[in-house]
Amino acid sequence: MMNSSMNGGRSESVIIKKHEFPIPEIKFTKLFINGSFTDSVSGKTFETIDPRNGEVITTVAEGDKEDVDLAVKAARHAFDNGPWPRLPAAARRNIMLKYASLIEERIDELAALDALDGGKLLSFGKLADIPSCIEFLRFYAGAADKIHGRMLKMSSDHQGYILKEPIGVIGHIIPWNFPSQMFFIKVAPALAAGCTMVVKPAEQTPLSALYYAHLANLAGVPEGVLNVVTGYGSTAGAAITAHMDVDMVSFTGSTEVGRLVMQAAATSNLKALSLELGGKSPVIIFDDADIEKATDIALLAILFNKGEICMAGSRVLVQEGIYEKFEKRLAEKAKTWTVGDPFDPESRQGPQVDKKQFEKILRYIEHGKREGAKLIAGGNRCGDKGYYIEPTIFSDVEDDMLIAKDEIFGPVLSLMKFKSVEEAIKRANATRYGLAAGIVTNNIDTVNTVSRSVRAGLVWVNCYYAFDSNCPFGGYKMSGPGRDLGIEALEKYLQVKAVVTPIYNSPWL
Ligand code: NAD
Repeated sequence: MMNSSMNGGRSESVIIKKHEFPIPEIKFTKLFINGSFTDSVSGKTFETIDPRNGEVITTVAEGDKEDVDLAVKAARHAFDNGPWPRLPAAARRNIMLKYASLIEERIDELAALDALDGGKLLSFGKLADIPSCIEFLRFYAGAADKIHGRMLKMSSDHQGYILKEPIGVIGHIIPWNFPSQMFFIKVAPALAAGCTMVVKPAEQTPLSALYYAHLANLAGVPEGVLNVVTGYGSTAGAAITAHMDVDMVSFTGSTEVGRLVMQAAATSNLKALSLELGGKSPVIIFDDADIEKATDIALLAILFNKGEICMAGSRVLVQEGIYEKFEKRLAEKAKTWTVGDPFDPESRQGPQVDKKQFEKILRYIEHGKREGAKLIAGGNRCGDKGYYIEPTIFSDVEDDMLIAKDEIFGPVLSLMKFKSVEEAIKRANATRYGLAAGIVTNNIDTVNTVSRSVRAGLVWVNCYYAFDSNCPFGGYKMSGPGRDLGIEALEKYLQVKAVVTPIYNSPWL
């Protein structure tokens, strides 16, 4: 366990290693195509790394274009000829419910896999992360038999009806920050809709996705419906986005890669797209806020999941009347935030996912120091092994500083001062992103004005990170077109077909 403690204006880290933690057995490391685990066509593998120490956990099959071709072929066959889209919806529901129960029996093991592979807190995995995956499956299982069209009385002597049909073969490309939730945020509504799919997990965190493929098989999801191809983005990922037989790509990741995905769709078969991209979300705290509550919200907004979350509240705008008090209290709390082994129940923040991410965050911290922002907490790596970083807070940050503009994707907060509601709205919106926003105030007029003026897909008032299966989230602006969760996510895997018949033998026919 590492504690950040104050030392003459700087934080310093102390490593207190209490005990070793048991790591889970790795059972699945091959591609899952057409109902079986298989080596990649090339026979190549890649290493997946433990971010607690930089050591290799295991090697995993490295899928490439040929493997994607096989997986898409299986998914295409399962969609065009297989039972899944043709099953009564209640039968799909029952298989999804069984899938959820199989996960429920293995919560601890699955949470441990993500802790090992992604540095995610085991406690969070057991209490919230994996249970929410079970909820996503159950929510969309319940919706599977409630997909309805509509009747139309047309102005000619015709009637029409609208069918909602599954889009077809989906390519799901997901990031590493929530390996399990991302998997089911994508897979659960697509299964309910009757689609078939190829999932490409992030190369940093392939392990739990392969386990979920195995459990889908055990639950009775027919072969070819759910395929998992592990591998790199520029090879396996790109092969999915350019594939002529993939009907839609549902992508979550960076805005930069989102742009490549859109280009590949445009130059291949104009496949449908859902893009969930980056963010630089503001948390706006007004003078009437309770300092204790507001600092807790601000800290959670940036430090939850070590800042590796698209919706991180990485810009905190505080009104001038409480700015100094807020700044002092926030720094005090950040310095007592426990950073440590993700398997340790006392840890509140584990290691960043990999060396690349760790070094990128440290570079941004150095940039913030050079830009002249005031460092009031953290600013260094934690310990000398693994990818741990101190909770870091910069104060007096200007809008045009790089740390205020770029998505850092780490535990680094930019604190800024504002005077009026109008100024807060203008500066909150001064970003290319628009994923989430937070508002902390007891004034209902302020809540109404700001929540309707902020250009973001999800606004939290006096809270942060409140999610639910039925609450859609997604972006405005360059955070990408697309919504995940909610009935909206089910709708995106469906397409509309209108069928028209005469009501009686019309003289025009
Ligand atoms: P990333 O864009 O580097 O990678 C995401 C996925 O895309 C990975 O599976 C990767 O292998 C794949 N990929 C990479 N290059 C590709 C290519 N050329 N073609 C096809 N696929 C490719 O993102 P990341 O570093 O894994 O995740 C962090 C990013 O994800 C952040 O920007 C974060 O904001 C974003 N994110 C967004 C949401 C959301 O819901 N909006 C949620 C989580 C993460």
